Amino acid sequence: MTDRKLLIAGNWKMNLNIKESVELVSAIAAGMTGSEVDVLVAPPFTALTAVRQAIQGSSIFLGAQNMCNELSGAYTGEISGNMLQDAGCTHVILGHSERRSLFHETSELIDLKVKTAISLGLIPIMCIGETLEQREAEQTFDVIREQLDTSLNNLKTEHVMPGSTILAYEPVWAIGTGRTATPEQAQEVHRFVREWIEENFNVETANETRILYGGSAKPDNIKSLMSQADIDGALVGGASLKADSFVDMINFNRI
Ligand code: PEP
Repeated sequence: MTDRKLLIAGNWKMNLNIKESVELVSAIAAGMTGSEVDVLVAPPFTALTAVRQAIQGSSIFLGAQNMCNELSGAYTGEISGNMLQDAGCTHVILGHSERRSLFHETSELIDLKVKTAISLGLIPIMCIGETLEQREAEQTFDVIREQLDTSLNNLKTEHVMPGSTILAYEPVWAIGTGRTATPEQAQEVHRFVREWIEENFNVETANETRILYGGSAKPDNIKSLMSQADIDGALVGGASLKADSFVDMINFNRI
């Protein structure tokens, strides 16, 4: 048995204006009374401050969807970790597959971002995952190992990863496609990730680290995914944009 508390995190991506964001988070807060899981929302940057105000007095955590690895200076268009903290964020999603594929973020860059986030006291939610092609070529574990080795290289070198660090296994073929990994497929990779943490850090860190699943998670499949020993929550895209479905996922134990 482990005492890792489940985390259900909503990644709103580039959706919702300020008013819509406040309405959504208010409906989520109203629906999650007595929730047994941790809940986080990651709105677009423009809505962070308003969402922060709307969640005051609730237990919802606020996260950002990305950040710059640098702390300040001439980086037009970028947002620093301090700025995210100023806006009320405690967490930041890093290395999402859309950042990796559409914005050409490499694991080396993500490694720098993870280091910066941790140095500021921001909790990274670092994403990894294989493409369909890689899965079909039976390269899943090699790809995951390579992403972990490179994206967490700084931490590996220092032999320390804070237990609060969150990893998210998001098979690229399951994101936004309606095609979910089976609970067994996801568990197999989550187990592999936990063993990687143990090998590179220690058993305590491996036991403490939450590993989320992401990829077409929804009310229909959340319970079976969460029943797996090494799945400690979900990073939810599409289904986090509607209060009803996200609240059902938060309250999956009561459905
Ligand atoms: C995501 O983008 O992190 C995600 C998991 O999206 P979806 O739930 O829509 O597949």
